[in-house]
Formats: sequence, structure tokens, C-alpha cells
Amino acid sequence: MTEIQVVGRYSVDAPVLRYDPTRAELAAHLDGQPRYRLDQIWQGLYEQGTSLEEITNLPKALRAALADALPSALEPEAESVSRDGETVKWLWRLHDGRMIETVLMHYRERTTVCVSTQAGCAMACGFCATGQSGFDRQLSVGEIVEQVIRARVSSAPRRVSNVVFMGMGEPLANYDRTWAAVERLHDDMGISARHLTISTVGVIPGIDRLARESLPVNLAVSLHAANDTLRNQLVPINNRYPIGQLTLACERYLAAKNRRLSFEWALIDGVNDRGSDARELAALCHRLRAHVNLIPLNPTPGYPTRGTPRSGVDAFRSVLEQQGVNATVRHNRGTEIDAACGQLRASRQIVDEPDRR
Ligand code: SAH
Repeated sequence: MTEIQVVGRYSVDAPVLRYDPTRAELAAHLDGQPRYRLDQIWQGLYEQGTSLEEITNLPKALRAALADALPSALEPEAESVSRDGETVKWLWRLHDGRMIETVLMHYRERTTVCVSTQAGCAMACGFCATGQSGFDRQLSVGEIVEQVIRARVSSAPRRVSNVVFMGMGEPLANYDRTWAAVERLHDDMGISARHLTISTVGVIPGIDRLARESLPVNLAVSLHAANDTLRNQLVPINNRYPIGQLTLACERYLAAKNRRLSFEWALIDGVNDRGSDARELAALCHRLRAHVNLIPLNPTPGYPTRGTPRSGVDAFRSVLEQQGVNATVRHNRGTEIDAACGQLRASRQIVDEPDRR
């Protein structure tokens, strides 16, 4: 097989992983093979989502050569399944020993995979387990895409309908690879743009780039505070991209894409769950016609404050509803399996127990 340049890698020295190459790059890789082989391999990889070894219409020697040349990106380090079986979470080990998480969530009307885009994160939100541990490196296209492939294999016969870029890392700080992954999921796995959601801490240049892309994906903004004083503390990047400018970027996105915007709001006891917080949030939502996802804060090792108790969550939501704003409460799915927000990795690094439940 020939040496090829693969643009989806995170650095020039990184190995080429199974889901890194584009179709054209894979074609170059198959130098000397008949053309139909490319279709067989591509289809095997993206439509069947099986391991290369199982693409049985390929000659055995070619399968072995491909498996060698294009190793899988993800080694399972831990897998936990919730008691009702509806949430599955993986902790994957990458080729360089870094760890990332993926979550599969079944709902009555859809099945969603939540993927990581970076190993670690540089955004330093104090309440977030990944933010507390700092940035390791970017994920490659193949490392992002393979998370969906692996979840899809496990999800069968239920089809993965939605993908949310809400796992570890800031997707818009790894823009090119995240976007290449979006295109791969859309073009090659048949997931529609309406079912793809990018969640950002509010990286304005990234939002503006998204507005210029042709696929109209959903945008979720992790707001958590609707005034700059509080948001500067909770989400440090707000010092660089304050709420006024972020709001304008969201307006530009909406004008370009005509998609519903959602705000994520982790309810933190006594910090951002007061009536005044709800009213400030409602005002922003009116302006942007945004929907709100409320998530009672999941406790993390490095942050002393707890999540808002149930009664406070209900009260916050009623204020929003009185103001005419739609809000969904996301009850911490998978808290029991450490499935929320980097906790599986965090718990692994603190206590070295196998399946901590
Ligand atoms: N960096 C991106 C995507 C990853 S975080 C972003 O900020 O949107 C996905 C969501 O989980 C974000 O809304 C984030 O603020 C939230 N989150 C992080 N830690 C949390 C915690 N401990 N409890 C509840 N939500 C949390």
C-alpha cells in the first residue's frame, strides 16, 4: 500500500486510523486494486459498520493488509450500561493512551450518540470534569467518526438517529476535524443535518464558520448564565466572547440556517438558579427564539457546589414558562453509571476500580 497524506489526522506524526481517510484518500491507499474494491470497503466501513475483518466479500489477504494499515482508533477501557439498559457509556483508550468517552442513549422516538471531539478541553469551565483536567489533544476525524460507528454496532437493531457533539472537548476549537466528521456522518452514514447538533461554549469565529457551511446542523450554546459577571466566572471564554457578541453571532447563524437554537443551562444550587437568572435567560430566549435545556449540575470532584434540587428546578422552569419560553429538563441520565460529563474518566483516574456504579 502507498504512503498517503490524510488530512483528518490531528498531527502529521499521528497514525492513519481506520475512519480517518476520505474516500479519495482511501482510493490512493488501494493503489493497484480493482475499482470496485473501494466501493466494497467504503460500504463495509460506513454502511455495515462492522470490523474490516468481517467484510467477507474481500479477499482475506486484503482484509488483513487493511486492518494492519488502518487500525481501529478505539480500545474499550470500560463499558457501563444503566439498569434499564437505555444508556450505555464507553471509556475508550486511544493509541497514545489518552481516554475519551462516548454515550449512547435510547429514547422512545430516537437513539442519540453523544461524541467527544477532543481529549480533554482547554475551555476550563470550573464545574465540568473535562474542563478541570485540562487539554490533552485534538481528536482526528477517524477518532470522532468511529465513536458513532461503535455505538451503532452496539445499538442494533435500534438505529442511531441523532448525533450530538456534546461529549468531551469543545467542537469549535477542533473545527476542521469536527466538520469533516459531520460531513462523513451525513454523506456516508446517512444521518440528516437536522439530527446533528453541535454544542459550543460560545466560540464566535466557529459559529460564524458554521453559518457559512452548506449543511444546516442544529446549534446548542452552553450559556449557564445570562449576564457577563456571572458567565465570566462559570464559563471563562466569556471574557473573550461576551454575551452581547455571542447573541449577535447566534442571530447571524439563525438568519443563515433557519434552525432552532438551544441553550444549555446546568442548574447550580444558589449560583444560577434564582428567579432573576430565569428572567434574564427568558429575555435572551425571546430575542433568539431559543429553547432551553435545563440540566441539574452533575457533581464533579473538583467543584464544591451541588446541582439545584428538584423543587428548584421546577420553580426555575415555571418562571421560564410563565415568560413563554420552552424548557426541557434533562434528568441526569446515567448518573448512576457515571455517564455524565467526563465522570467515567474522572472516576477512573481517582479510584482504580472496575465498574464503579
Ligand atoms: N464544549 C461544548 C460541548 C461539551 S460539554 C460545550 O460547552 O457545549 C456538553 C454540555 O455539558 C455543556 O453544556 C456543558 O456545559 C455541560 N456540562 C459540563 N459539565 C457539567 C456538569 N458537571 N453538570 C451538568 N452539565 C455539565
